[in-house]
Amino acid sequence: MATERPVSSGIITIDLDAIARNWQSLQTLVGSSTCAAVVKADAYGLGAERVIPALVGAGCRNFFVATFNEAEQAARLSADGRVFLLNGIMDDNAQAAADLGVIPVLSTPEEISLWRACAERRGAKLRAAIQIDSGLNRLGLSPEDLQALSRHDDAFAGLDVVLVMSHLASADNPDAPENMQQRLSFLDGLKRCPAAPASLAASDGLMLGPDYHFDLVRPGYALYGGQAFQGRPTPVESVVTATSKIMQLRRLKQGDRVGYSHTFCAKSAMTIAIVAAGYGDGVSRAASASTGEARGQVAVAGQLAPIIGRVSMDLIAIDVSQVPAQYLTRGSVVELIGPAVSLEAAGRAAGTIGYEILTRLSPRFDRIYVQQSET
Ligand SMILES: *Cc1c(COP(=O)(O)O)cnc(C)c1O
Repeated sequence: MATERPVSSGIITIDLDAIARNWQSLQTLVGSSTCAAVVKADAYGLGAERVIPALVGAGCRNFFVATFNEAEQAARLSADGRVFLLNGIMDDNAQAAADLGVIPVLSTPEEISLWRACAERRGAKLRAAIQIDSGLNRLGLSPEDLQALSRHDDAFAGLDVVLVMSHLASADNPDAPENMQQRLSFLDGLKRCPAAPASLAASDGLMLGPDYHFDLVRPGYALYGGQAFQGRPTPVESVVTATSKIMQLRRLKQGDRVGYSHTFCAKSAMTIAIVAAGYGDGVSRAASASTGEARGQVAVAGQLAPIIGRVSMDLIAIDVSQVPAQYLTRGSVVELIGPAVSLEAAGRAAGTIGYEILTRLSPRFDRIYVQQSET
């Protein structure tokens, strides 16, 4: 668990056991439906190389990735599991996807033809997932596509359809009428597809209740401790902390200005700290705060400390007026993400969402993986 070399600036701690417990909690929540895991974008920035084996150890057998490279990695790490390729196939990788044995999520009639042609060349059926667009207008077969396909008995010939899925637009909001509309549209689409297990919900969708669980749920963010659902809390624990250190303390006089373009001006004498973390480490530059603004916050000894002035590439300045003096020394630990600064809070402060904060955590920070239970 300990790193060998001295730690210079930041540390990201990733609790693999918490990820495993989160997957188990969500599996329990969805009962007889199967809980998969979305591990795209390097497991939301946390390191698929470590996260996938931890999930396998917890019992997860179904993995979703976005790109072909991610699928190759997931196939290698997930042993007897199934790997679904959300972004589907193109002319240049369809054959390789077939060789790899991954399951592409097919979203257009052209893609279905391409995969059928692969199956024909191999002289064997190929597993496939079919995506229906139920109102997100992102990837997926439209109602017109489905109608056209359903006129041909052999529209899915050569394919072993193992999943039919769709994706919700507003699942974070339990009151959004779109949720029910999309569910009905999905049920309609299912009638025109080969009979197969169905999947509609991601992290937030599964919190909408059993009507949304179908046969398989596909959470990503919640496994990593995310709490984007605006209804009751998702039964998951936090997974990630990111910390850095105070490099220098400065005493400002009234009228002193801080950082690039001097956007912050001290209204009265105050103490600030310079912290070794910037946008090069994943602290969003959008969390910069001019005089009188409240934007990004970090925490020292559990006490919130606002970011002041511009976030630079390697450094931020923070207002430590509220932090007890005994915690203010060179080398004091500064929490960027953790118990006092949630992913959601960090996302809001930067005008974005916790998902983006996670996927942007920098490779520059040292990473510590916590894992008691060997898998
Ligand atoms: C990313 C993604 C998911 C996972 O979403 P979370 O909100 O992270 O749970 C599920 N399904 C599809 C189609 C996705 O693109």
